[in-house]
Amino acid sequence: MMPRTVCLLVNVLLPVALAAQTRTTLDIYVVDVEGGNATLFVAPSGESLLIDTGNGGQAVARDADRIMAAATDAGLLRIDHLITTHYHGDHFGALAELAGRIPIDNFIDHGSSVQPNAAADAFLENVYPELHARSNHTVVEPGDGVAMQGVDIRIVASAGRSIRDALPGAGRANPLCAAHQSKDEDPGENAQSVGSHFTFGRFRALHLGDLTWNKEFELVCPNNLLGSVDLFIVTHHGQPTSNPPVLVHAVAPRVAVMNNGTRKGGQPDAMKVLFSSPGLEDLWQLHFSLLSGQEYTVPGLFIANTTDESASSIPVEPIAAPAPGTGAAPPPAHNGPAFWIKVSARDDGAFTVSNARNGFSKAYAARGAARP
Ligand SMILES: [Zn+2]
Ligand SMILES: [Zn+2]
Repeated sequence: MMPRTVCLLVNVLLPVALAAQTRTTLDIYVVDVEGGNATLFVAPSGESLLIDTGNGGQAVARDADRIMAAATDAGLLRIDHLITTHYHGDHFGALAELAGRIPIDNFIDHGSSVQPNAAADAFLENVYPELHARSNHTVVEPGDGVAMQGVDIRIVASAGRSIRDALPGAGRANPLCAAHQSKDEDPGENAQSVGSHFTFGRFRALHLGDLTWNKEFELVCPNNLLGSVDLFIVTHHGQPTSNPPVLVHAVAPRVAVMNNGTRKGGQPDAMKVLFSSPGLEDLWQLHFSLLSGQEYTVPGLFIANTTDESASSIPVEPIAAPAPGTGAAPPPAHNGPAFWIKVSARDDGAFTVSNARNGFSKAYAARGAARP
């Protein structure tokens, strides 16, 4: 009979060790943080990267709970890397709460904030330095890598700058550049977002945080420095101030996952860009968006969370998005059960997407040798 202490150790360590040994896929959890962002990448080695930590304020515990549920599902005991894409409350909000629940080894960001904001300034002055003083803190530049066994993670945008050199296999002239119309410069934090590109064998994924229109253009014009991807986490929750066709149609994802809320993201202009993207097989959404209405939505099978108020029918017409800064009434809190979209990718390029709400999943076969 084993001594009791050894027994305990075996019981604690075995599931983790087994999970790490038997895992062969890169698993990506797009967690529902109600129109914020929290996307968890877990490599076959068991190493993990979380991009953003959801909302703060009243939502801190809720969003930390939801991120922890994904971490637990993946068998994680720590987060190896945390990228905070930029200092908006829907991206760093639950960071301190989460750091109190699970060790975080490396805090990655774009450097100082460019947009004065009381909550972000207080966080950056009083909270964040104490957290990363106990771990590593890395300010990334475009072109930098993030270490993860078996997965090449490349930073493609940070602090308003973007990569100059094409990613391996990319760099062809982008014929869509000529038709691109720029928008007004975005002086805020969104344009500072850290953008990341993932290569796992033949599988590729792109996550640009809340990067805005003109900055997305720089990544794909005059040459498409990103190439094509299998999975695109739709930029900026699916808002039309991001996601220009020049980028979306050039990276030509097979699958897009949109981290929208019920009243944030999914506006008709953004949906038209996604639905007309060459080679797009499916769009998956974290919520039904009232801004899409029935006219622009995907089937419910592909939607992880519905609306918060029970409606007898889904409106056909999209409702107008509240103008930013108008103090429009906040959406009703969705504090009940929440569901993620999970992507499991193999190194041959095949992947499966599943909807935690209804159990629906769909396999996307590895494609042939040539990438478009
Ligand atoms: Zn955001
Ligand atoms: Zn933002």
